[in-house]
Amino acid sequence: MKTIRLHPGRERSLLRRHPWVFDSAVAKGGGDSGETVRIESHEGKFLAWAAFSPQSRIRARAWSFDEAQRIDAAFLAAALARAIAARRRFDVRSDAVRLVHGESDGLPGLVVDCYGDTLVAQFGSAGAERWKGVVADALLSATGLARLYERSDAGARALEGLPAVTGWLRGGAAAGAAAGGEACGNDSGEACGNADGEAPPPALEIVEHDWRFTVDIATGHKTGFYLDQRDNRKRFADCVQRLRLRRVLNCFCYTGGFTVAALAGMRAADVDDGEVVSIDSSAPALDRARAHVALNGFDPARTRFVDADVNASLRRFLEDGARFDAIVLDPPKFAPTAAHAERAARAYKDINRLALQLLEPGGVLFTFSCSGGVSADLFHKIVASAGADAGVDGYIVETLEAAPDHPVTLEFPEGAYLKGLVVMRKGDIDARHGR
Ligand code: SAH
Repeated sequence: MKTIRLHPGRERSLLRRHPWVFDSAVAKGGGDSGETVRIESHEGKFLAWAAFSPQSRIRARAWSFDEAQRIDAAFLAAALARAIAARRRFDVRSDAVRLVHGESDGLPGLVVDCYGDTLVAQFGSAGAERWKGVVADALLSATGLARLYERSDAGARALEGLPAVTGWLRGGAAAGAAAGGEACGNDSGEACGNADGEAPPPALEIVEHDWRFTVDIATGHKTGFYLDQRDNRKRFADCVQRLRLRRVLNCFCYTGGFTVAALAGMRAADVDDGEVVSIDSSAPALDRARAHVALNGFDPARTRFVDADVNASLRRFLEDGARFDAIVLDPPKFAPTAAHAERAARAYKDINRLALQLLEPGGVLFTFSCSGGVSADLFHKIVASAGADAGVDGYIVETLEAAPDHPVTLEFPEGAYLKGLVVMRKGDIDARHGR
């Protein structure tokens, strides 16, 4: 068993059961990519069993803080079973659910989403990669499902020195043939992906709240769908309904989740003269968003889809004197890490300033950041400063986070990557001062 010895004082975060060991904390020792290593304090005291990652700044990720624990197939199967069992106690209103959320579930770097009868996994760390075959088998046996698709193509893989891999890991080649499919029989843990003649991923349909969506697990973002925004879409629908909002702008709409939510809110409020404008720079995402409007029985005449840059579109709307009753801003990750926070802050501030200017008094802005490098506190400051520049004040009527199947734990606050504010615009500051 290889041992990693830390610098004096660098044991503190592991003693608090935070799972990351940074390269700067390591005094000596090493291992192969994904190999289980023993982490010791400077005095040689056991701290954790961890997966080593020779190329990553996060040099090791802890599997267990119990010296008696063996890191083996049984350990991983138990951790997966615990994560899946927890979902039964979480309030998840969909048949698409995140079963494993990495560090928060004690499985660093591993993400598993379940879309109906199909599992999709991201192996985002050296440790997860090392145990891929074991994890794949344990997932099938814990869920009773037969199909597992791999989407190990997120940027974080490169930081771990791992290549992008996508394709069926289990069961895909037989998908649609015999029920249950067949494991690909690849014990090396490699995805069977990209093999000639492989069955393409099926067109998956999910039900979220009362709404139907289709998911492209092969080429969609993340594992295909933004499951983390599930309950925020519902809150948006409820808000549109309750306030009878008519003119809605959905920025960074992807496949139209908030668009469908807005239309549902209007329908529930018997608003039949509303309009939802949806903007994204991805044409395939917009095509799917349009299809989702029809799939849910809404009138396409009440929608407009714009293939454009959001920032430029917001400026154009301002020039044209357009105004909206509700605006959603759900941009991609501008700051993957804290190092990008400053540039990201400017980008967030810019779009929030423009959106607040476009909002009618009494109107509502749902604004989000999914950047790990931007804390909830910093995000609040950014939106506040956008408001000050816009000359717009607003009530924060709600603070938002990811859906409960993307849990945050006491020990790993970094899990709280998604934060949102619901801001209701007051009258103009100038107006309030009687000017
Ligand atoms: N709200 C969506 C998820 C948004 S993901 C949902 O609920 O499903 C972010 C989206 O922003 C992606 O679809 C991406 O294509 C789009 N995007 C990224 N940069 C953009 C830009 N500059 N202008 C417009 N869209 C952009």
